[in-house]
Order: sequence, then structure tokens, then C-alpha cells
Amino acid sequence: MSSYDYDLFVIGGGSGGVRGARVAASLGKKVAIAEEYRYGGTCVIRGCVPKKLFVYASQYHEHFEDAAGFGWTVGESSFDWKKLIAAKDVEIARLEGLYKKGLSNANAEILETRAELIDRHTVRLVKTGQMVTAKTIVIATGGRPNEHRALPGYELCISSNEAFHLDELPKSIVIAGGGYIAVEFANVFHGLGVETTLIYRGAEILSRFDHDLRRGLHEAMVAKGIRILCHDVIEKVSKGADGLVVETKNNGTLNAGVVMLALGRDPNTEGLGLEAAGVKTDARGAVVVDEYSRTSVDNIYALGDVTDRVQLTPVAIHEAMCFIETEYKNNPTKPDHETIATAVFSQPEIGTVGLTEEAAAKAYKEIEVYRAQFRPLKATLSGRGEKMLMKLIVDAASRKVIGAHILGHDAGEMAQILGITLKAGCTKDDFDRTMAVHPTAAEELVTMYAPSYRIVDGQKV
Ligand code: FAD
Repeated sequence: MSSYDYDLFVIGGGSGGVRGARVAASLGKKVAIAEEYRYGGTCVIRGCVPKKLFVYASQYHEHFEDAAGFGWTVGESSFDWKKLIAAKDVEIARLEGLYKKGLSNANAEILETRAELIDRHTVRLVKTGQMVTAKTIVIATGGRPNEHRALPGYELCISSNEAFHLDELPKSIVIAGGGYIAVEFANVFHGLGVETTLIYRGAEILSRFDHDLRRGLHEAMVAKGIRILCHDVIEKVSKGADGLVVETKNNGTLNAGVVMLALGRDPNTEGLGLEAAGVKTDARGAVVVDEYSRTSVDNIYALGDVTDRVQLTPVAIHEAMCFIETEYKNNPTKPDHETIATAVFSQPEIGTVGLTEEAAAKAYKEIEVYRAQFRPLKATLSGRGEKMLMKLIVDAASRKVIGAHILGHDAGEMAQILGITLKAGCTKDDFDRTMAVHPTAAEELVTMYAPSYRIVDGQKV
């Protein structure tokens, strides 16, 4: 009989925490999980899921326009922001319910409270002040938008959190940031008819992605009417006669109904009692973990965004499953953070897996780059001036495909499948002997027979 109240206590009911709690409980462990806001966490409540619903909503005006090329006459259309928010909220509440149901079906105890560590085995439930003990503790508290408090007028700005609940759709928005959240929201707001400006300090949006995708997306967004100001930052935001006044370093003053800051996310570790428990954090406040997600205190694990490894939902879930193997199945398992396929739900979409051309050129003596840019079939009749871009990066010595990058419709869906091929170590020859699916855009991935160029010792030849 354990001397603790619980075998496992999980702090944070998001992607990683819920998975860890549910699976541990289904193994017969006595589990409690505490969530201070809403079950489902960032992904379900104010991240991936509502974001994707917004992306769908923002694409309809193009669908209506494209329909004409296929013989359809679409009547006058209009968009109702409040209806979208209400419908989205219903779906999010349904998903939140499913998360809780999964936990209770597995017999995990669901606590609706903030929880803080008192020591390595004791947690305080903030709502009631009750102290509970657990043999093992998992910190899965995620992250939150960086408020950028150094910016004069930061308190007048919103983050992605508020973007999901704006009372009114603004006439104009300025979004600061060049990461995927900034880029996705710029496309969403533009698609819903909002005059949109994206302002980013770097030379090109989406650093860490392949340069062709970054440039291609930038050009496509500008062609749609999104204003992108690179090499610039917001220096001050203040209230004006008609909305907000945004002072920039290099582009003068802009007016905006809403200013959204998407300037990175901070780990949720403030006031969590980590010091009292002896759990170490890094300079950014992220919990430091070993390869098994174990913190500096051996009965306390941390997983997901709070560890600032790879901030993606499937990664948090994978880390939770590895924790289960390690702690409860006598099978120490390290999370695998290599070759993670991912998408940016921009318009056009990005799907990517493996090394960028730049990274591959540094890591390998010789690489082959296969590159195709073409007009997708649908665009011929719709008349939309869009291009699809596909790129494979191949290690010339082993023939392995080490990077695959797509810009265009359904790129995220394709990246998922490509992820399997790269994980399996498929070679370019495997791609070449795979029959095409015709007519699709994806068939280009198996019909690029000759390299567009090679890079040898970092030099393009
Ligand atoms: P979270 O899901 O953030 O869960 C942590 C939970 O802990 C939260 O619910 C929080 O309220 C709770 N909590 C914090 N402190 C305490 C405490 N002391 N006591 C109790 N509860 C506490 N990822 C993708 O893979 N694909 C996407 O398309 C995607 N889009 C995104 C879009 C946006 C706008 C954002 C912000 C994120 C997006 N992400 C996406 C990232 C994804 O949401 C996160 O990587 C994922 O949610 C991390 O899961 P987690 O369990 O680590 O943390």
C-alpha cells in the first residue's frame, strides 16, 4: 500500500498532461490531474483546433470566387464573425467534454484548480488550499504568449488567446511576429476581409523553414493583398482617435483596429513551486529535463511545451507516451525528436519534414535538390494565379531523401505521409519506383527524375 494519496499527479490538462494521466489511470494507477483553465489545453481551447476552424472559415471567399470558373454562379455572400465564434465555441466545448470523459472513463480524478508544488511529493490545490501527495508528479503546464512588456502600449495589444474571442472583427489588424502563429493569423484575418499588416524584425518570415517556402509564401501572401514589413519592429502602440496608432522603426506610423503580438511563447512555470521542489529551470524558465523527460528531481517529470523542446501537440503526446513506457512499463523510452513532419496553415499551406536545403548543405558533402513549381489543375479553370512548389532534398552518397518541402493546397496532409517515408529512410530510388497517383499534385513527388541542381561542399553546381 502506497503511503501517498496518488501514484501519479499531473499538473496541466493539455495535450501532454491529459494523455499521460489517462493512460496511467487505464493501467490501474491512482491518478489525479489538475487544470486551472479548461481541459484540452492550448491545442484544443486556443491553439491548433480553433485556429484550423478559423483557417477554413477564411478560405470560403476564394472558394466562392473560384466557383465561377467551373460554371457556378454564387449569390451575394456575407460573413458573420459572431456566428463563427459561437459555432467554434460549441465545437471546442464538445472536445473539452471528450477530454474529460476520456479521463473519467479511465478513472483518473479530474480537479478543476490550479496546482502548485510544495515539495517533491506534495502538491497544493490552490482552489481549496488542500495538500495532496503523489509518488510521481508530471509537470505539463504548457506555455503562454510572451506579452512583450518592454513595448510601450503592450497592454493595448492582443495575443493569439484573445484573437479567438474578439467581440467584433476589426477593419484592420497589425500582427507582430514572423513565426507560424503570426503568419497563420495574418492569412486568417486577411481571408475574412480584414486589412492586414504583418511586421517582422527578420529578413524573411518563418525562419528555420526552407528558404524557397519562405520566399514563395511571402510572395503569395503579398499577391493576395497582405502587407508584409520585414526588417522592422513596433516601437510603440497608443490609442488614437480611431483605433490604435502603431509606431514602427522603419515604416512610420500605422493605424489599426487591433494589434496582435505573436512574439514567441513562455513556459508556464511562474509560481509553480519548482524551486521548493528542487526542480531546475533554464534561463527562459523552461523545466530542464533529461532524455527521458525526467527533471532534476527523479520522481518529477516534465513534458510538452513547458520543457521548450519542440512546441507541437503530437510531440507533447509522444513525450507523455514515452513517460508511460519509462515509468509504468519498465521500458525506458526516450522521446524521438528527429524528423518531425509539420505544417503551417498559411494560405497557401506549408508542409515540411526533414532538413531544409540550407541545413542539408551544411550537414552533407553533396546533396541533390529536386524542385518543381507548377500551376495546380484546379487553378486552370478557377483562374487563380497560384503556384505549387515541391522540393526534395537527397543525400547524394546514400540516396536517402533527407528533406521534403511543399507549398500549396493540402501540403500539411502530404507532409504527414512524407513523414513516414523519411522516418523509414526511403531513398530517392524508392520514390522513383513508386507509381504516381494521377491526376494529383502529389504525383510530382514521385516524378521529379533529374535533380534541379546539386550542392557540393556548400557550393551550388
Ligand atoms: P498545453 O496544451 O498548453 O496545456 C497546459 C495546460 O496546463 C493548460 O491548459 C494550462 O491552463 C494548464 N496549467 C498551467 N499551469 C497550471 C497549474 N499550475 N495548475 C493547473 N493547470 C495549469 N501545435 C500543433 O501541433 N499544430 C498546430 O497547428 C498548432 N497550432 C497552434 C496554434 C496556436 C495559436 C498556439 C498557441 C499553439 C499551437 N500549437 C500547435 C502548439 C500546441 O498547442 C502546443 O504545442 C500543445 O498544446 C502543448 O501541449 P502541452 O500539454 O505541453 O501544454
